[in-house]
Amino acid sequence: MQLKYNFLRSTYNRLSNIFNIPLLLGCLLILNLFSMTGCDVKIEKKITENEKIRVVTTIGMITDIVKNIGGDRLEVIGMMGPGVDPHLYKPTAKDIERLSSANIIFYNGLHLESKMGDILERFSKNTKSVAVAEGVDKNLLLTPPEFDGQYDPHIWFDISLWIKAVEVVRDTLVAYNPESESTYAANTDQYILKLNELQKYVKTQSERVPTDRRILVTAHDAFNYFGNAYGFEVQGLQGMSTVTEAGIADVKELATFIAKRKIPAIFVESSVPVRSLEAVKAAVKSKGFDVQIGGELFSDAMGNEGTPEGTYIGMVKHNIDTIVSALIGKTAVEDSLSKEQ
Ligand SMILES: [Zn+2]
Repeated sequence: MQLKYNFLRSTYNRLSNIFNIPLLLGCLLILNLFSMTGCDVKIEKKITENEKIRVVTTIGMITDIVKNIGGDRLEVIGMMGPGVDPHLYKPTAKDIERLSSANIIFYNGLHLESKMGDILERFSKNTKSVAVAEGVDKNLLLTPPEFDGQYDPHIWFDISLWIKAVEVVRDTLVAYNPESESTYAANTDQYILKLNELQKYVKTQSERVPTDRRILVTAHDAFNYFGNAYGFEVQGLQGMSTVTEAGIADVKELATFIAKRKIPAIFVESSVPVRSLEAVKAAVKSKGFDVQIGGELFSDAMGNEGTPEGTYIGMVKHNIDTIVSALIGKTAVEDSLSKEQ
């Protein structure tokens, strides 16, 4: 026992002449801790040739871009379905799981997904994350006075800007997976052709409305880019975001505007509760003018999957058709109601 002790003691002394033992132990401990927590290793989720690239997106309009460009090469999961308000959406446990397994995350940015900011930032440390609207030239973005100097995030309402978001998605996919570049490029070209046709359609439809009747009143200020691109004056009951609810004063002010300008129709939005615009309609009535609810527009969310409005192109067509028919005459909704009676 004594012999063993002497041997250990002399070995320690010899080693301590060469190394600082406590320091060495400390270093080993720290290295061990790092390898246990993975602090020193950036988590890279590499894919193999046959494996699909997992892409997680926020709003439906972005999900649609990614599906159109990526085709079979990707597995795309959209977090926000029909009727979901991105300004208010908080991620679920399932979403966190999906984000954790994503190879690429696409979101709109410019504070659209305002309740997800921290989480998206956290994931961006280890996963390729791209805010498509933030990839668009800032000189093309709007900063309406009611936005307190911030950029308006609703860029999909101007098709020419949305084409730029499409290019951001293409460039990201090509950089991540250059082997499939030709597929992504061809799909993008095809999709942009369709979007250019859509642009022509929206312009032609808008021109059917006399200039003095091109006033669009909606539940929230989502349509500034639409107004800017297609020549409409735009008024929203709620501000740029739906986070702050409209008050009585806002309702009164908007009702006065509608009665004074004799605006025939106002529009509800699929992702914003109807009640606020019904209050406006009632307030307009009390001023002796009748305004119709011109129909439902898809603003910050698309329609149900499998319906025409469940795609970006279908949603835009639905919106312009609804706006034009309500502002120039009877709405499709009223037509169908009068047939039922
Ligand atoms: Zn919005």
